[in-house]
Amino acid sequence: MTSNSVYFTEDMHGFIEKVISPFDGEAQTFATIANEGEIKDQNFKFRLTINIENIENFINDKELTAKATGYIESPLFGGRREVQDGVFNLFVESKVSKDFDSIKEMHYTFQFSNEFNETFNFYAFKNIHKQDISNMWKDTTTLYTQIFKDGSRETPVYAGILRLNLKDFTKQMMTLNSNSKSCLDRIHSIYKFMNVFAENLWEAYTPELFNPEKHDWDEHIFPVHTSKGVSNADVTHYHVDTEDGLTIQVDRFKRSECRDIVVLIHGLSNSTDMFIMPEHYNLVQFLNNNEYTDVFSIDWRGSGRHKYNYIPNEYTFDHIVKYDLPAAFQRIREELPENTNIHVIAHCIGSVAMSAALSSEMVSGIKSFISNSVSFTPQVHKIAKFKLKVAPFFLDNIFRYPYLSPQIPYMPGNSFAKWLSIFQSLVRRECKEPACHMASFMWGWGFPAPFEHKNLHPLTHKRIKDLFGATTTYYYRHISKMIKNRESVPFHREKDFYHLPESYLQNLVNVELPPTLLVSGNKNKIFPLSNKLSFEEIKKISPNQNIDYREIEGYGHQDIFIGQHAAEDIFPTFINFLNKNRA
Ligand SMILES: [Zn+2]
Repeated sequence: MTSNSVYFTEDMHGFIEKVISPFDGEAQTFATIANEGEIKDQNFKFRLTINIENIENFINDKELTAKATGYIESPLFGGRREVQDGVFNLFVESKVSKDFDSIKEMHYTFQFSNEFNETFNFYAFKNIHKQDISNMWKDTTTLYTQIFKDGSRETPVYAGILRLNLKDFTKQMMTLNSNSKSCLDRIHSIYKFMNVFAENLWEAYTPELFNPEKHDWDEHIFPVHTSKGVSNADVTHYHVDTEDGLTIQVDRFKRSECRDIVVLIHGLSNSTDMFIMPEHYNLVQFLNNNEYTDVFSIDWRGSGRHKYNYIPNEYTFDHIVKYDLPAAFQRIREELPENTNIHVIAHCIGSVAMSAALSSEMVSGIKSFISNSVSFTPQVHKIAKFKLKVAPFFLDNIFRYPYLSPQIPYMPGNSFAKWLSIFQSLVRRECKEPACHMASFMWGWGFPAPFEHKNLHPLTHKRIKDLFGATTTYYYRHISKMIKNRESVPFHREKDFYHLPESYLQNLVNVELPPTLLVSGNKNKIFPLSNKLSFEEIKKISPNQNIDYREIEGYGHQDIFIGQHAAEDIFPTFINFLNKNRA
């Protein structure tokens, strides 16, 4: 050991048991497996000496990495076995835990072999919970343990839980020492180690409330608009100017020529990012893999990618109908042979706008249309209705705040909106993610409102602030008007909008929709069963329309697309519908 080193020895023990696949990695699953291991007395322990060779380098390392040496002991592996290639990370950004409120993890990684010379990889983590100091002892002493065979990281052969008890913890503290030359250096090194340890815990456990200046708005789990979630496709971005002076964007994900192309339309304040997420099997990748090898996505003016949503504006859905969608579809058609079939899958306000564009014939020649959540008859919970009414008034007239965004809690300073988010975090008990609270505040009524927590990948929950952007309140006014009228209508039909129909819904008497599939999760808390109502209303006023309705069990509003298992639970329904309507 060199100078300025710090080392300590940690003993942990517990029980492990064989994993019968599939293994979901949930804390409860670890606990159940450990219980079975305990019943069979399959104990496992380790003694590791954690050796930080140079405390300065350690502190400057983002993952706080140190060497681990020592041994494991278990009857399952032939008694005491030496540990090889041991690595210890004091605190890393949470990435393994399935727990939504996990903010940091401690990692233990090493190899060992059993008496038959078979090699095993030990991979374990402790889970530090956000803003919950009552969990501190449990968090820092519970080690979720997985043992893999032959370098695989897919499914562990053994799993379980190891723990540190108070006696061992005291012993561990006694072993904390340094090999620095002078006594003062030793004290300094140990002090620095304790300091980085305490700092990290403080950061994790103190509520955001006391950290108003915490600068983490620029921390991102994935690059913000990455397309690395889509493989084997050429990605092209087209900038499209609208007649009223904005620039919108069309993205293309092309693996090969295809006679039937799919155009995706995101919801308000989301973006194309919701279709190309790297943390799950996303929609673009799924379409590309299922013979729809040329997919487009329109970032219309309400996209979280556009910076003009951070300044006041008075755009309504009619602007999307008149300016964005026709321009985007024209640009897409310019890129394609004339006989190409265009299918559309749209979400939320993107779907309201697309439905209105079809009804007003601002967009035509579409081969098939899938709408999620809401289309011709927006309806919301009565508390959400109240929010939609008062929020624009307070925001625009009293607080004069230009936009709402789930990113607000992460901004520095104590703006009005920051206080709003702090208030939300105080009343919301469903999770500890401020961006999730704000998204629920901005839309619908539920805890949380935009999705079912259990359907999200933990990484998705942690990067909500990157997936939902800012929106101004004029869109709220328009949705309020539609809710009041109980159908989709233009905001006003003056000046540039005189030619729009009086009602987008009623105009379906005159216009034939393409084959249309209306979809909604049965737990939709933003526009609860609005698409079911649309289906019933359209059947009444225009019975010959080729429309269908499908309700999806266990899903909410946004998780239809961003849910971690959407590729198994949802996307096959889309493919079936597309296949029925393709050339
Ligand atoms: Zn949440």
